[in-house]
Amino acid sequence: MQIWLAQVGRVKLYLLDTDRHDNDPIDRWLTGHLYGGNQDTRIAQEVVLGIGGVKALTALGIKPSVYHMNEGHAAFCTLEIAREEIQKTGKSFYDIEQTVRNSCVFTTHTPVPAGHDVFSPDLMDSYFANYWPQLGLSREQFLALGARRLGDPWEPFGMTVLALRLSRAANGVSELHGEVSRKMWQILYPDRPENKVPISHITNGVHARTWTAPLLGDLYSEYLGEDWSSRVADPEMWAKVDEIPDAELWWRHQVLKERLIAHTRSKVKVARQNRGEDHDFIQAAENLLDPKVLTIGFARRFSPYKRGNLLLRDAERALRIFGNEQRPVQIIFAGKAHPADEEGKRIIQRLMDWCKHPAIRYRVAFIEDYDIYTGQKLVQGVDVWLNNPRRPLEASGTSGQKVCFNGGINCSVLDGWWCEGYKVGADGKGLNGWAIGEDANTSDQELQDRIDSESLYKLLEEEIVPLYYDQDENGIPHGWIEMMKASIKTNSPLFNTDRMLVDYVAQMYAPGAKVDAAPILASVGV
Ligand SMILES: *Cc1c(COP(=O)(O)O)cnc(C)c1O
Repeated sequence: MQIWLAQVGRVKLYLLDTDRHDNDPIDRWLTGHLYGGNQDTRIAQEVVLGIGGVKALTALGIKPSVYHMNEGHAAFCTLEIAREEIQKTGKSFYDIEQTVRNSCVFTTHTPVPAGHDVFSPDLMDSYFANYWPQLGLSREQFLALGARRLGDPWEPFGMTVLALRLSRAANGVSELHGEVSRKMWQILYPDRPENKVPISHITNGVHARTWTAPLLGDLYSEYLGEDWSSRVADPEMWAKVDEIPDAELWWRHQVLKERLIAHTRSKVKVARQNRGEDHDFIQAAENLLDPKVLTIGFARRFSPYKRGNLLLRDAERALRIFGNEQRPVQIIFAGKAHPADEEGKRIIQRLMDWCKHPAIRYRVAFIEDYDIYTGQKLVQGVDVWLNNPRRPLEASGTSGQKVCFNGGINCSVLDGWWCEGYKVGADGKGLNGWAIGEDANTSDQELQDRIDSESLYKLLEEEIVPLYYDQDENGIPHGWIEMMKASIKTNSPLFNTDRMLVDYVAQMYAPGAKVDAAPILASVGV
């Protein structure tokens, strides 16, 4: 293995690399791709990350005060920290486990089961048979570190389980996700009620300056202060957004929307050419979308739980909304499916077909390669950001937060961060955006899809479209702009990385920060 150093601003970023001439050809490829391998590739990658990561830091002479594991992928690091400690002190695993735990914290990032790696005991044998003796453990004791329950020889080794067992503190990434995670992992804490499971939450945030369009950043400099980007967690600073004249905010927003449309046209045209579509359809890309029209953005990985086609559930009604002559609506989709996700690919196909419908062929666009550049253009240029996952599977979500810094307005299921961000007024209607469906889950997916799609159509027809098209003689929608300002004022001070980092330092990294970890079953019974 070799280590690369990338200097990111003032931060040193070390990268692990197996692509060395003295490695096997297969091993050289391990760090060259993220997804797509089998379980064997996956465990090898995680051994490199977790065990290799600790070895790399030791070789560099770096002694971290905290190891922060994000997802279980790096959880093998706990084993290597233990191994080094045992080698140094000659003590037993159970004597030093608390020392390991004192230096580790863990963040879980998704309630979707596929996001939590588990490995079969067979696979663990082939990678760790030489390793557990170095920890002074038997095979059973070792496998118990990753077992949700004991006594089943087929119980897989769970990376999240290992991380929870050997961390002093753990958190989810939004309030609701904390609650869902406590329920999900209560099995590890049989003597505790769900609300006492030691997983707290710190809600995600985004880096304001990276995601705020410079055109708006200039406006913030003028009205909030030159130093606005170093005071982003201050709600009083954001309250000054009210002083920005409506016309000023609006023309800047419109310019950003025009840039997004230009970007979309060129992307879509090239994609149509590459697919060998017919000439007229390729040419039509040049007239795609219109900056005067209410513009919705929807961008994410097309996993089925994100329900990329919820909007098409009642195709006729969707056509009436988007194809309306007087008050049309347009939407830009961006994203791709996981290579192995057939259902996700079908959803994309359905959207692509919908783009060709004569009534809306200029109102719907699909951008296939959703990267950071397209992401920036989208979150900076849309009027409305649509997010309709199946509750409660979106742990936090961050793209809707990026939109707020640019005056975009969220229309989202009350999942992840939006559960905390959404504010209602005295009339029970949204002050800073819209909530799709009810604040409740049903296990009946069909029913949930019906409730949520009905709610989405109704919001579009009765609130979103009328508010946008209520414009003065200069084309300025004052009611809409009031909501844009509410979106900026209420969300920006909360959903940024400055606030997030302060929370991590106080609640997770500070030496006193401590939650009781799950007892290791091995030490109480095996
Ligand atoms: C922000 C962003 C994401 C993550 O968005 P979520 O809402 O958290 O799913 C993914 N890809 C790109 C390109 C992004 O900019």
